[in-house]
Amino acid sequence: CGIVGYIGNQDAKELLLKGLEKLEYRGYDSAGIAVKNDQGVHVYKEKGRIADLREVVNNEMLATIGIGHTRWATHGVPSKENAHPHQSASGRFTLVHNGVIENYSLLQQEYLQGVTLKSETDTEIIVQLVEKFVSEGSNTKEAFRKTLTLLHGSYALALLDAENDDTIFVAKNKSPLLVGVGEEFNVIASDAMAMIQVTDQFIELMDKEMVIVTKNEIIIENLQGEKISREPYKALIDA
Ligand code: GLU
Repeated sequence: CGIVGYIGNQDAKELLLKGLEKLEYRGYDSAGIAVKNDQGVHVYKEKGRIADLREVVNNEMLATIGIGHTRWATHGVPSKENAHPHQSASGRFTLVHNGVIENYSLLQQEYLQGVTLKSETDTEIIVQLVEKFVSEGSNTKEAFRKTLTLLHGSYALALLDAENDDTIFVAKNKSPLLVGVGEEFNVIASDAMAMIQVTDQFIELMDKEMVIVTKNEIIIENLQGEKISREPYKALIDA
């Protein structure tokens, strides 16, 4: 299983699909991507191989921001509905997740009584919580942080907000995730190998950090909202 993401000036689809193919070695049962452009966020997902996902991606849908996922099912059978990305009830928020949320059922009971879930995954709880906290008045960053403080378990996460310009919200705990640094673009990846074709500069993330990624900026914060600065390292892998 794995995660990739791209934010920049190029069309994201092929970069995401190629990145996911590089992560195939980690094992998976389904795959998906979400891309964002002026018309909104578009989700393509499929049970099976990346090759099956390629069949359903609309090649005409140009978009310069996107996230991608290969799933190794832990909660909910391998299926198109349970494949990531997952979206909130209104469709505003779109999320990919690797890992396991141990308290998802408790969080659902406590915060999401009125929400009809669309999948059987632990992951969907996360994206529904973000939407709930935004509906109660938080901005997306605050809602994301508040959600992260409630999660028990392992996660690498990437979140898109259809109403927030050009940002990927990222976080990790006990699952790997890196941010790759480019000129007028940035990427995310579970493994540097997935994005080594576009950059060899990567920033390691620590557990319980969140990152605001735009095409020109990478802002790392801890869950108390304090900024953290960390230099990239050069990944020594052949492209
Ligand atoms: N627990 C999530 C699911 O079952 C994510 C699994 C993964 O790491 O791919 O959908």
